Amino acid sequence: MPRRSADALDAALARIDSSELTELTRELVRIPSVVRPGDPSATEAEAARYVERWLRAEGLPLEVHEVAPGRPNVLAWLGDAGAGRSLLLEGHTDVVTEGDPAEWTHPPFAAEVVDGRIYGRGAADMKSGLAAAMIATAALRRSGARLGGRLVVGALVDEEGDMLGARHLCTTPLGRGLDAAIICEPEQNEICLEQRGVVWARVAIHGRMAHGAMPEAGVNPIGAVAALLAEVPALERRLRRLCARSRYLRPPTVTPTVVQAPGQGIGQSNVIPSTARLTLDVRLTPGPDGAAVAAEIDAACGRAMARAPGAAIAWEPANGFRLATRVERSEPLVRAVAAAVRQATGRAPRWGGVPGSTDGTILRTTLGIPIVTLGPGNRLIPHQVDEYVEIAEVLEAARIYVAAALNFLTP
Ligand SMILES: [Zn+2]
Repeated sequence: MPRRSADALDAALARIDSSELTELTRELVRIPSVVRPGDPSATEAEAARYVERWLRAEGLPLEVHEVAPGRPNVLAWLGDAGAGRSLLLEGHTDVVTEGDPAEWTHPPFAAEVVDGRIYGRGAADMKSGLAAAMIATAALRRSGARLGGRLVVGALVDEEGDMLGARHLCTTPLGRGLDAAIICEPEQNEICLEQRGVVWARVAIHGRMAHGAMPEAGVNPIGAVAALLAEVPALERRLRRLCARSRYLRPPTVTPTVVQAPGQGIGQSNVIPSTARLTLDVRLTPGPDGAAVAAEIDAACGRAMARAPGAAIAWEPANGFRLATRVERSEPLVRAVAAAVRQATGRAPRWGGVPGSTDGTILRTTLGIPIVTLGPGNRLIPHQVDEYVEIAEVLEAARIYVAAALNFLTP
């Protein structure tokens, strides 16, 4: 590494203050940015405002995009896009529900620090990753680093829902100008180049209403539900054959998550309902396109219909196809991050895979840019009670982001 950039890295790393990072994470955890449908005051707004104020106080230019009422994306940047590439450090401000607070040993929004861990909803997923991205950007600014390009730090909304924030970003000049992104999700600081995809197949089954005493007069959609459920293992096997085997991802799965009959209204014991509903949660590894996946689901529905005469089975992908993504190790972004792990931690990079989809899925598939997912927090801890993050891991992430940004955006 040339002397000049080594100096720039040392100078920027020296500007990361561990206690400032811990306190920023705790402040964000204390803001309960759970999105509660039906309660317009329960959104990301307050967390986003906090992020906006913090970044503004740091002297960074920023934009706030109102994605939906009370649901703003906050994007700040350092450096000039005209000077080279544009790299995003991406986080989300929403968190999932805390569930029953009585089940928590450490209150979900108290951000208690115990034995080097910060506890609370969003500690790992992902207020700490967001804080590390903010602190990394600030450290680069404070050190006077000259970037050959632009580092964008983004706090997006609705990752846990329909990913409206990421979808919106892809429509803005700032988003369209991106060349690469680091998704700061909790992956225990492993470099994840693959993310599993998901399709929620929402199935509607139509039969014919009749008296329960005279089933021959109707078509019971519940029989078709059973036929389709019986097809699930075969569908899973076919998808596994279609998808690439991955070292870092579990193979495709097909999991029924909703079964409902009648499809509308209240059931009655002596009435064969006219409709039923079923949702299949289909998880994918890289390989097939949307059409190929759809063809397999179509075929499973077709086989079920053949076994349930008279019933009509149709499905649609709720929220579209979020296909699995993969980025090659030869990508300049991946090289920049792998080198950054060595520079910032002194250890060799560890590699991993993302079990679910993230905002990165949207950025990868919509913008076509390479993404790497890397952030602090145990991969299994999100959405659990007593969610926590190791402070040492958060600090390590901030250092990696600084080095990665310098590597990727070196003039
Ligand atoms: Zn997350």
